[in-house]
Amino acid sequence: MNQYLEHLNEAQKAPVLHKDGPLMVIAGAGSGKTRVLTYRIAHLMQQGVDSFNILALTFTNKAAREMKKRIAELVGTSETKNLWMGTFHSVFARLLRYDGDKLGFPSNFTIYDTQDSQRLIASIIKEMGLDKDIYKYKQIQNRISSYKNSLITVKAYFQNPELMEADAMAKRPRLGDIYQEYVDRCFKSGAMDFDDLLLRTNELLTRFPDVLLKYQDRFRYILVDEYQDTNHSQYLIVKALSDRYQNICVVGDDAQSIYSFRGANITNILNFQRDYDDVAVYRLEQNYRSTKNIVNAANAIIAKNKNQLEKVVWTANDEGNKIKLHRSTTDAEEGRFVAGSIFENKMQHQLPNNHFAVLYRTNSQSRAIEDALRKRDIPYRIYGGLSFYQRKEIKDVLSYLRLVINPKDEEALKRVINFPARGIGQTTIDRLTVAANHYGRSIFEIIENLDKIDLKINSGTQRKLEDFVNMIKSFQIMNENSDAFTLAEHVSRKTGILLEFKKDGTPEGIARMENIEELLNGIKDFVEGQKELADAKGDLTEFLEDVALATDMDKDTSDDDRVALMTIHLAKGLEFPYVYIVGMEEDLFPSAMSMNTRSELEEERRLFYVALTRAEQQAYLTYTQNRYRWGKLIDAEPSRFLEEIDEKFVENLTPADPYRFKPLISADIFGEVDKSRLRQNKPTNGTPPPQGRPSPDQLRKLRKIRPNLGEPSVRSQEDIPELSIGTRVNHTRFGKGEVIRLEGAGNDKKAEIRFERGDIKKLLLRFAKLEVL
Ligand code: ATP
Ligand code: MG
Repeated sequence: MNQYLEHLNEAQKAPVLHKDGPLMVIAGAGSGKTRVLTYRIAHLMQQGVDSFNILALTFTNKAAREMKKRIAELVGTSETKNLWMGTFHSVFARLLRYDGDKLGFPSNFTIYDTQDSQRLIASIIKEMGLDKDIYKYKQIQNRISSYKNSLITVKAYFQNPELMEADAMAKRPRLGDIYQEYVDRCFKSGAMDFDDLLLRTNELLTRFPDVLLKYQDRFRYILVDEYQDTNHSQYLIVKALSDRYQNICVVGDDAQSIYSFRGANITNILNFQRDYDDVAVYRLEQNYRSTKNIVNAANAIIAKNKNQLEKVVWTANDEGNKIKLHRSTTDAEEGRFVAGSIFENKMQHQLPNNHFAVLYRTNSQSRAIEDALRKRDIPYRIYGGLSFYQRKEIKDVLSYLRLVINPKDEEALKRVINFPARGIGQTTIDRLTVAANHYGRSIFEIIENLDKIDLKINSGTQRKLEDFVNMIKSFQIMNENSDAFTLAEHVSRKTGILLEFKKDGTPEGIARMENIEELLNGIKDFVEGQKELADAKGDLTEFLEDVALATDMDKDTSDDDRVALMTIHLAKGLEFPYVYIVGMEEDLFPSAMSMNTRSELEEERRLFYVALTRAEQQAYLTYTQNRYRWGKLIDAEPSRFLEEIDEKFVENLTPADPYRFKPLISADIFGEVDKSRLRQNKPTNGTPPPQGRPSPDQLRKLRKIRPNLGEPSVRSQEDIPELSIGTRVNHTRFGKGEVIRLEGAGNDKKAEIRFERGDIKKLLLRFAKLEVL
């Protein structure tokens, strides 16, 4: 018996030992799906399968690296070199480098990131003379992206009257033309965007049966993690590649499907048994990650969804603490609570920072948390912001490097042709673009042939253009004999970029210079690292590909001791001992944009399930009664998801005034609460409303089944308590007191109160938790 099989329970062993043929592992969070995938690969290799014949697709490149490391520990390092493992995008970018020439792409094609795509689309909109307020480049880019992910090519678009009509109805009848021009321009630039990496792979595998056969034969064993979040394009690639040998292993959890807004299609997992013959289905039930309390609470949440596969998840782990629920008055206070709690837990249990994660629904929520962590000197890292490689100065240097590899790259060229400034103006660039479009050539080629076409560019500018082209050509010659680091260092100096930021002299300029140094260090590391890999050369092309597909999730942060801040979407597959889920409020989570249909709401609930199941030992849920959104302070109501957790799993850190207990409101068909009724039941004058208040009997029942969520947020104007000098009041936190002064009116009405415990406080009545005695 192989030693490593002892690391698995019986249910996990079965899919690991499964011989050939399709198999699927469907199981809840933390039950070891990713572990099974890892061990299955190790086991296949142990059984003599050549690692050359294995393809594994993961959610992040970092996950792939970690998996490789683990496999190496299990079966010995040298064996893992030939494994093809990574995200769909990185794996198929690599495949297209080998065979994309059949589609007319050079092997050194550039990968346009979203920013490049958007810039190109913006310039097409301008060139076509369209109204940029109607044709918003970000929206257009989004739309084109979703077409591509559904395999709707330009041709398919123009054959589909419904799509065209929909765009015409949205006042964008020229969308198809923009799409066409965009595709042409990418092609002419020798560039693919992110979506092309999948779309073009599909095209390649469909149009060239010999290529398909080659890869079917190579990838005899295909394994996919997080299969529930594959989109149609990815599904087709996997289907095609596995068609011959049918050795396909997918693992996933339908309850964690959270990317439908990006085209992920949950039916891929639901239909797997229909798509392949004799599928073996394995289920894992034991969760190894979390405490009983977390596992049970999560199970109860997801059970509210109607559309899901039956699953059991249990754990032998300790009961653990209850989930802690905290209410605050503002988002700043929420941040202070989170930072304070992290600080206390760190001190009390002697924990490193990287045991903590703060998860939120939208990126904008990070600011308040960051402020509070900074004040406490707690180091943190935000994931999912602008990646290092998208910073201006970094993209500038990278654009030069991209031009060295692929001088047709239009976006790179436009970015640096006049940076640092060399006197080439916008009019010149526009003329060059028009000529490039006219002749069907790249701008670079137009400049090379300026003597043959008259563009009415004066001789001074012509010389500058020629100098630029010659400089790039000199880099190209150098690239033939140097590694990526040597070249990049030379380029940063020779182009004047480093000097430009140095001259600047401002702290910002210095920071930019340091970033470029950091980039150069990164390139050096990369060159060293690649030397260890079997089929890698450590050259510039490989580096640029790595960079184009890198997200900051991919960074190796194992020795980085910081609190992790990220959206729930990014946290998929990860685990942390302590997890804070912040902003548990209606319209934020569930998001206001995802409450229109039952299926949208169910996706939000799955997101909540994903969030909670990241926690190993302790989960916190926080919400605030007022939040700044879009620059305005708005009322916030506790999320319906809070009501859905059984009270027995929750410890309320901020128990509310029992008189303001929110009455039970029956859930409608969405399992959601009717908000108009909620409002009706808002307390007035600090006392419960006559109607809508539950009977003592109902109240007792309620308390049993749901946590006490406190009163609904902020009062409306007529709810502000009637006070006069001398009125006796009770405050939830400060206790009893007497009003000694009043000022302001309406929503700004404030009262100064002398509390019995000795202090005088001025309270904004709209927010103050006061009860008139
Ligand atoms: P998710 O759905 O969140 O992606 P998962 O099903 O992929 O979760 P893993 O990440 O593979 O689960 O496992 C969860 C945790 O449990 C990991 O820390 C893993 O090492 C541990 N684990 C899984 N199986 C075992 C086992 N048999 N013995 C000990 N630890 C295990
Ligand atoms: Mg996993």
